[in-house]
Amino acid sequence: MGVTPRLLRAVILGAPGSGKGTVSSRITKNFELKHLSSGDLLRDNMLRGTEIGVLAKTFIDQGKLIPDDVMTRLALHELKTLTQYSWLLDGFPRTLPQAEALDRAYRIDLVINLNVPFEVIKQRLTARWIHPASGRVYNIEFNPPKTMGRDDMTGEPLVQREDDRPETVIKRLKAYEDQTQPVLEYYQKKGVLETFSGTETNKIWPCVYAFLQTKVPQINQKASVTP
Ligand code: AMP
Repeated sequence: MGVTPRLLRAVILGAPGSGKGTVSSRITKNFELKHLSSGDLLRDNMLRGTEIGVLAKTFIDQGKLIPDDVMTRLALHELKTLTQYSWLLDGFPRTLPQAEALDRAYRIDLVINLNVPFEVIKQRLTARWIHPASGRVYNIEFNPPKTMGRDDMTGEPLVQREDDRPETVIKRLKAYEDQTQPVLEYYQKKGVLETFSGTETNKIWPCVYAFLQTKVPQINQKASVTP
């Protein structure tokens, strides 16, 4: 008889622009665990027009967080369908009450925290410029226009989306930090927090990969997938 590996209950934390999406998808490509993203879950509910989806839309449209009790109910309900799997939560918990509610339902084994300097994230998130008439998108780092601030084809000025402006980005990052700091401290006290610091996702990833490999008895590593 085979030994059933113990299921892994993991959370990934990281600011917008920290590379959390990329790292999460690499984790799920390399390790046997289900990825549950609260943002995706909410968007799916909004698309299907569920009661929670309709309610969630009113908050998201105002740039607000979903109330803790609603978000917790939705996430825990979804997790009930995944009891026989290892999972990685992404975007939940975002606040201390959410972390406490999750803890009452499951024992969290590890929390991966991506720690990327504020200035690096700001640069990444403010690098996008648009030519409004054509919709052409430039990225100052990866795909810069030939002349700074000007569209390559027409020479017209480029603009930044509201979301990509430095003042909006700073506000978003500050809000993230305020909400998440207590969550980080909570998991730190529980001894499950693993912080990975760096300025490039491609350098952070091998460390996350190596760390998760040490948990191999707890997760079924997929064969033949390279990092
Ligand atoms: P995301 O895709 O993670 O940026 O989530 C999109 C939006 O969904 C956020 O801006 C919040 O309004 C909402 N949201 C996602 N996760 C949570 C959460 N754990 N708690 C409250 N609101 C959330």
